Amino acid sequence: MSLVVQKFGGTSVASVDHIEKVARKILASRDRGNKVAVVVSAMGDQTDRLDSLAKEVDFSGECSKREIDVLLSSGEQVTMAVLSMVLMKLGCPARSFTGNQAGILTDSFHTRARIHHIDAKALHLSLDKGEVPVVAGFQGTDDRGNITTFGRGGSDTTAVALAAVLGADECQIFTDVEGVYTTDPRVVDTARLMEQVTFEEMLELASLGSRVLHSRAVEFASKYKVPLRVLSTFVDGPGTLITKEDSDMEQPIISGIAFTKDEAKLTVRGVEDVPGVAWKILGPVSEANIEVDMIVQNVAADNTTDFTFTVDRNDYQEAMDILGNVANDINAREVTGDNRIAKLSMVGVGMRSHAGVASQMFEVLAKKSINIQMISTSEIKVSVVIAEEYIELATRALHSAFDLQEQGLKS
Ligand code: ADP
Ligand code: ASP
Ligand code: MG
Repeated sequence: MSLVVQKFGGTSVASVDHIEKVARKILASRDRGNKVAVVVSAMGDQTDRLDSLAKEVDFSGECSKREIDVLLSSGEQVTMAVLSMVLMKLGCPARSFTGNQAGILTDSFHTRARIHHIDAKALHLSLDKGEVPVVAGFQGTDDRGNITTFGRGGSDTTAVALAAVLGADECQIFTDVEGVYTTDPRVVDTARLMEQVTFEEMLELASLGSRVLHSRAVEFASKYKVPLRVLSTFVDGPGTLITKEDSDMEQPIISGIAFTKDEAKLTVRGVEDVPGVAWKILGPVSEANIEVDMIVQNVAADNTTDFTFTVDRNDYQEAMDILGNVANDINAREVTGDNRIAKLSMVGVGMRSHAGVASQMFEVLAKKSINIQMISTSEIKVSVVIAEEYIELATRALHSAFDLQEQGLKS
């Protein structure tokens, strides 16, 4: 008998009707002889609604984050109860578990907590009794019993972490598309469904904006060797298997394109070109717990330089305020910012053995008259920052230029 963990995302559980379909999927898996543990997201866009409630209150003190987590975690708790009731109505023993009841212990970084430990006793007991445990996604508690959440999309991480501790044979992430595509199929309709993708590429795609999987879920799956599959709740099919790299497999140069509109760019102009400046600028930013992504420092002309970096768009105003003070201290000329940028990244393990991907990418963007504001590269990815308004045009153009679509299709 196999054990599978099945996770159902927001669209999959958007109404009681949807939840009934999900329950039948779970029953079908049990009928095939599997034991099933389930993780659920909040219904539909409930997390967005809860989040806007918090924003309406508009109190941004550090202590408010504890309450935001209490608020956000409630969405998943509604679904776990409704799905358990529906399963029981259909004759299947089921029991709901909050993150805490499932034994998920985290650190205390509210709204982006990380799992420290899972005590899976209660879940094992439930499975041994023949029940379907239904666990609320994206939440746990810290060592003082405070509710914590894992950041948007974090229910995937709950599912993979539970699959790891329960020793599941597969973790199945059910969502509203048929698997992982070469890019967001809602933006490029010729995007190709991938049969499989390596952990390394999936990790890059997820961290660079493909929200189909939470990046920490991919990290966990890779670290604990959890077989991970993304598939559709609504259309039967094999979906996409996330696998380790097979040296016999011929790797495409580019596997996929990810993009994100969640970033903002800040520039400190006219900074004196002396040692310690980067630290003076970024030190206060990191003390405020703001994560910095790309960094560019220009070559100095007349002994001064410009220093540019990107942060999460939610941190933009706070970072601007901090830089206002820093600029005075270091005698910088001015601070400018832009929160209408987007980052586009091309990812592929085949890039390791192929030069020229970046220049081909720049040529495609140039032909569309799209200005590149920042560039960063690593062994298996090239990222560019461009104006937000061109992100969809750029994605379509690159997807087509690199022949990522199904054979015979052109966008
Ligand atoms: P869920 O609520 O099921 O967790 P998400 O909205 O978090 O679903 O993730 C699924 C969405 O991810 C899809 O609807 C799709 O628009 C988006 N997406 C972005 N990039 C990709 C990609 N490369 N492959 C598949 N889906 C993608
Ligand atoms: N409900 C949370 C969100 O919308 C967590 C998740 O669905 O993964 O981000
Ligand atoms: Mg998701």
